[in-house]
Amino acid sequence: MNQPANLNTIKSTISKYQIPVVKKNLDQDIANVPNEIEDQSANLSSAKNSIPKYQIPVDITNLDQDIANVPNEIQSQSILIDKSVEYPSDPDLFRETILSTPLIRALTEIGPCQPGIDGKHVIFPKNKNGQSFLLKWYNKITKSNFPCKRNWLVYSPRSNKMFCFPCFLFRTISQHHYQWSDPSKGVSNFRKGHEKIVKHEQSNEHKIAEREYLILRTRIKNDSTVVHNIILAGKKEKEHNRNVLKRLIDLSLFLAKNGLPFRGHRENFSYKTPNQGLFIELVKLVSKYDAVLAKHLAESNKNETYLSHMIQNDIIKSMAHETVQLILNEIKLAKYFTIIIDSTIDINKNDQFSLSLRFVDKEGKIREHFICFEELPGASASNYFNILNKCISII
Ligand SMILES: [Zn+2]
Repeated sequence: MNQPANLNTIKSTISKYQIPVVKKNLDQDIANVPNEIEDQSANLSSAKNSIPKYQIPVDITNLDQDIANVPNEIQSQSILIDKSVEYPSDPDLFRETILSTPLIRALTEIGPCQPGIDGKHVIFPKNKNGQSFLLKWYNKITKSNFPCKRNWLVYSPRSNKMFCFPCFLFRTISQHHYQWSDPSKGVSNFRKGHEKIVKHEQSNEHKIAEREYLILRTRIKNDSTVVHNIILAGKKEKEHNRNVLKRLIDLSLFLAKNGLPFRGHRENFSYKTPNQGLFIELVKLVSKYDAVLAKHLAESNKNETYLSHMIQNDIIKSMAHETVQLILNEIKLAKYFTIIIDSTIDINKNDQFSLSLRFVDKEGKIREHFICFEELPGASASNYFNILNKCISII
């Protein structure tokens, strides 16, 4: 993916939400914010009067949609989650952090901190009352008698406390000091732990938060399905193009091996000529019996047919390069080799210089290969020498 393009997209998306604050005064401004703003339980109306300087000019109606449009990898770049720690979603790590929408999304992607749920041996330390978290609390039996996992229950190894993952992510103001949701609190008393867990999961506040959490999880899953489908479609297209190219290379090899000309007078498909040259005619013939080529001719964009004379020349050049490299590799293994140069007049009465190599291969057989032609400007020794130098430097 084109990273600079993505950065531009996110920059333009973010610019809508920028805070109109002079950064150099930000620390000082924050220090001057009245205490009642920091205390969420304080009188909200007086707090509101002090807030306008820091308000963000956001059209909230489109906020969710806009955030959903920000590419995932860019979102995660802008979020400070330390993935190098063993449990990056431990609520204790977010005591001082405001949970922004992208951060909630990123934490949901990571999932709840549940050490030991994967079968790994974990020791849960005892608290000051000599009690500890129990692994079996992750499991529950539903009313229909089905065993299942509590996907919400969090154990924080950093603080040796229990939390609720959905309530932690989607806590409302009334829940702010609630021990299950506030990372600076948590349930540290494990006495009657199971009863406390059951009581919490049956509470209305928990059910609302869990619903929000499940909706977000489903949305993330759907997003990744869409991305997965786009990647899959790209892979299929690449595979199809490779298959087409393989067939075109095989046809080119057939013509080259038999010393046949590739092109006709009128190769373009818009000319209704009876013969468009051997290369195109062979493509048409094979496409009658080959589904890949038939699909390619029927569906490809007229600028992406890979049939133009330039593509034909590219294929020929690539094949020539590969062939010469194979010959050179064999010569490197041979003990001796000879350079044979000569010239001959072509049909246009131009003198053509030819270079051939002769050597004995590792099986003791004499091999002689033509390497290239070059136009010779004159018949002097220096002309031969210069052209030979040029050919050798190319190969
Ligand atoms: Zn909860």
